[in-house]
Amino acid sequence: MKTLPTIGFIAILAMPFLAEVVSSSWVRLWRFHGADWLLYALLAAISVTFWCACATLVAASRRRAIVAVPVALLLGVVVGAHAVFFAQYSSVITAGYIEEGYRHGFDARRTIAEQRWMILAWVGLPALLSYGLLLVARPMTWLRTIRNRWKAAWLGAGLCALPFLPDNPAKPVDIQMEHSVMRFAWHRVTGRDDPRKMADAPYVPPARGNRIHVLFILSESLRFDSYCNDPSAPCEVTPETNRVMHDRVPLYQMRSNDSFTIMSTAVLTTGLPILASRQELEAAPNLFELARAAGRHTEYLGSHKIKYLFLRTANIDQVVTFSDLSNDDDYEYADEDLARLATRRIAQLGSDPWFVMLQFGDTHSPYSVDPGLAPFRPYERDFSWDGTPKLFNQYRNAVYRQDAIIGGMLDRLRSSGALDDAIVLFTSDHGEAFREHTQLYHGGSVHEEEVHVPAWIWAASSVRAQLGPAWARLADASSAPWTHLDVVPTVLDAMGVLDEPAWRGITTKLWGTSMLRGRTRPRAIPIGNCNDLLACAFKNWGVMQGLVKIEAREWDGYWNCWDLSTGKNEPPLLSMSDPACQELLVEARKLYPTLPNGRPF
Ligand SMILES: [Zn+2]
Repeated sequence: MKTLPTIGFIAILAMPFLAEVVSSSWVRLWRFHGADWLLYALLAAISVTFWCACATLVAASRRRAIVAVPVALLLGVVVGAHAVFFAQYSSVITAGYIEEGYRHGFDARRTIAEQRWMILAWVGLPALLSYGLLLVARPMTWLRTIRNRWKAAWLGAGLCALPFLPDNPAKPVDIQMEHSVMRFAWHRVTGRDDPRKMADAPYVPPARGNRIHVLFILSESLRFDSYCNDPSAPCEVTPETNRVMHDRVPLYQMRSNDSFTIMSTAVLTTGLPILASRQELEAAPNLFELARAAGRHTEYLGSHKIKYLFLRTANIDQVVTFSDLSNDDDYEYADEDLARLATRRIAQLGSDPWFVMLQFGDTHSPYSVDPGLAPFRPYERDFSWDGTPKLFNQYRNAVYRQDAIIGGMLDRLRSSGALDDAIVLFTSDHGEAFREHTQLYHGGSVHEEEVHVPAWIWAASSVRAQLGPAWARLADASSAPWTHLDVVPTVLDAMGVLDEPAWRGITTKLWGTSMLRGRTRPRAIPIGNCNDLLACAFKNWGVMQGLVKIEAREWDGYWNCWDLSTGKNEPPLLSMSDPACQELLVEARKLYPTLPNGRPF
């Protein structure tokens, strides 16, 4: 039994690696590449020496029972927070996630209060275990000969170096978490990335246009394969909108440029690509300002919980957000309230032209379901790997419920005549992954399930008559490859102001083309989830041109090149030597210095 204290000592050093095992996060290790392994091994050695220094300092202390408390607590937090976070997001905690939580006003105290029992269990148990181990642990003799001041110096140096480690998450969980927290703190202290620095909106000259009303409906996390796209095909998931808007033009090949709400909203309201700088995005006139300058009353009504809307709301005539609809952050039925409000408001708007954007949010995880309207069974908020089919049903039921709400709203608006002079655009900010490529939710990749989104355009018969051949061109381009970059030009075109000479300086900067002008030769556009607005949790990016895409995630050794023409979530993989892929490679070299894994290409 003499070896027991030594075993206890080694067990303390093994705690962060135990966290990998209990949270199943060790599976991510298999996605590492050569350099990642090297980094992980190096940092694992640092982790071991770090806890070694802590444990020997505790063992050498005369007040062992007291000194052991902060060390045990730190170990408990490292193991527990990692496990809880990984179970929910299939990701390690990164500085990007903390940054985003901060920007969106995420209140950690509230979450801690609500989930106190789970957190207590996940943090408390490893903390108690560590505390017990620290009391009995006895370091090996040779360790005890190292002077305490050297150990303390080592701990200090380690803490100071943490914010400057590379962002690559190939780190043991303890180093990864400490790095993320320190990195975030470092950014706040140095004032880098301050979201409050907003540019003033530039002057937009008034323009002449038509009197067509524009209703832009943006949904959340809708995948192309979880929506009824073809109006004539049997419809399971979204029957209500399918029925009410049966005379719509479906857009079968619409893609978002990213899979985060905040980035998509930026693209959809500025018409600028994801790689535009924060300053460019914030200085560009947005759709509301342009619509207002084109003589329209403007409204943004949203039930989305996102706090940072990427909209200069001061220039919108009427703004309603989630916090106006409910005081309860966990309220799950705001879509219903939004639809009721929108029906009332739009009916009151009258004949002066308007531009209204509605942003629905209940299809965001954890997917709000109405048990009375849930045809997909069994369903459950089961975020485990094995529970994915049930979670997917939960999601589809949420889509079904939201469709009943949006379809019902459109039905009332159409039958009341409120849309008689209107054009309606519908799309989703991005798709949603259900572990098709191992990841859950969105923002983790630009694979098809995350970026191929449903979209359609509907216009009242009077509007079709006004648009004339433009409407026929849109219908002909139903299967053409479009992206969210094409929305701003299309809306401006529908308002009759896309060719406004006074706006040349603005419209020539738009990357997309109007869908009302038919099929055009698509240009190569950057796609991905890392930009100036968003420090990405997982590095992933690529280039898309028409129906060919190259992309990579940070654990991919090289680009993958995909043929998107099938519209499937697992499209055929092309050889990189294919001329279309080679063309995108040339474009990628202009856009990105390295692959997401940090290597040159
Ligand atoms: Zn979203």
